[in-house]
Amino acid sequence: MNILKNPFFEEAIDACRYFWEAGWGENHAGNLTYLLSDEQVQEIKEDEDVKKTAPTQIAMTFEAKELIGKYFLVTRAGAFFRTIHKHPEKDLGIVKVNEDSVDIIWGFENGTMRPTSEFPAHLLCHQARLKQNPENRLVMHCHPTHTIAMTFAHEIDEEKFTRTMWSLNSECVLVFPEGLGMLPWMVCGEGAIGPETARKMEKYRIVIWPYHGMFASGTSFEDTIGLIETVEKNAQVYMLNGGNIKNGLTEDQVKELAQVFGLWD
Ligand SMILES: [Zn+2]
Repeated sequence: MNILKNPFFEEAIDACRYFWEAGWGENHAGNLTYLLSDEQVQEIKEDEDVKKTAPTQIAMTFEAKELIGKYFLVTRAGAFFRTIHKHPEKDLGIVKVNEDSVDIIWGFENGTMRPTSEFPAHLLCHQARLKQNPENRLVMHCHPTHTIAMTFAHEIDEEKFTRTMWSLNSECVLVFPEGLGMLPWMVCGEGAIGPETARKMEKYRIVIWPYHGMFASGTSFEDTIGLIETVEKNAQVYMLNGGNIKNGLTEDQVKELAQVFGLWD
């Protein structure tokens, strides 16, 4: 079987295309990492293309020591979400995590290109989420327009931001009953923002980066994308009102929802 026919590849390629069409992955924005299950690792190892190619090893520094030996599907550094579907063997790669390097076992133009520079940050997020939910598989970074806009119009305070979101639509507390994490503005890239995002992911599945975008995580593409869509849709409603919200669900109504659906302990 062509390796790219594997359903998780198709889901990753579709997700990148969708994010670009939605305007959440402009230019080089956006990256994703997907943790392969043991069965998927086995299937990949048995793939003819993988078997005949020697892995390329590249040095990378990681703090996520619990993920050594795991395999991830990763987007390439500098990839355009707009065109990943045209040359996935260049823009996607399967890597195995070592102590301070990765083995590229497939993709990245035969191992000549690098995974996203945010890969170490993604791994820290995976490690944090797996402690909360062993079924977590995905970490995605994207630039959802209205969510970013809302960080200009709303106070940068995760508790207040969450309460506003919950007041906008009953689905919000149902989809993210744990709330939304948020960092202050920080320099993006390989510095402190990665460990800080991961620290937030010990509690939240979404971490908003003000004036930039978000990191989201989940057990599947559907789960993670659904979460992003819910935040983004309601940020859009907020911004359509110019951030001037007079009505909406009260705190008691949100509590009532949470009680009826058994969301909070
Ligand atoms: Zn970004």
